Amino acid sequence: MISDDEIKRLIRTNSDNNYKLKKARSECEHIDRVIKFTYPCGCSFGTLRWTCSLCELTVGYPGEEEIKEFLKK
Ligand SMILES: [Zn+2]
Repeated sequence: MISDDEIKRLIRTNSDNNYKLKKARSECEHIDRVIKFTYPCGCSFGTLRWTCSLCELTVGYPGEEEIKEFLKK
């Protein structure tokens, strides 16, 4: 059973990490991009997106040809 203190700690760490991640992403130049399955909003269906290989931010939508190339691999 998780204690109240532990929950509070998790929430704090989480918002702290989110803040750091946001900052890192805003400073990242997203130079190395890869096509990856992303799962937005906890959705079980993956959607293909161009993402930064470093910070994993979604940076664009792949075109039909790019998706075909990706699925061939
Ligand atoms: Zn990036």
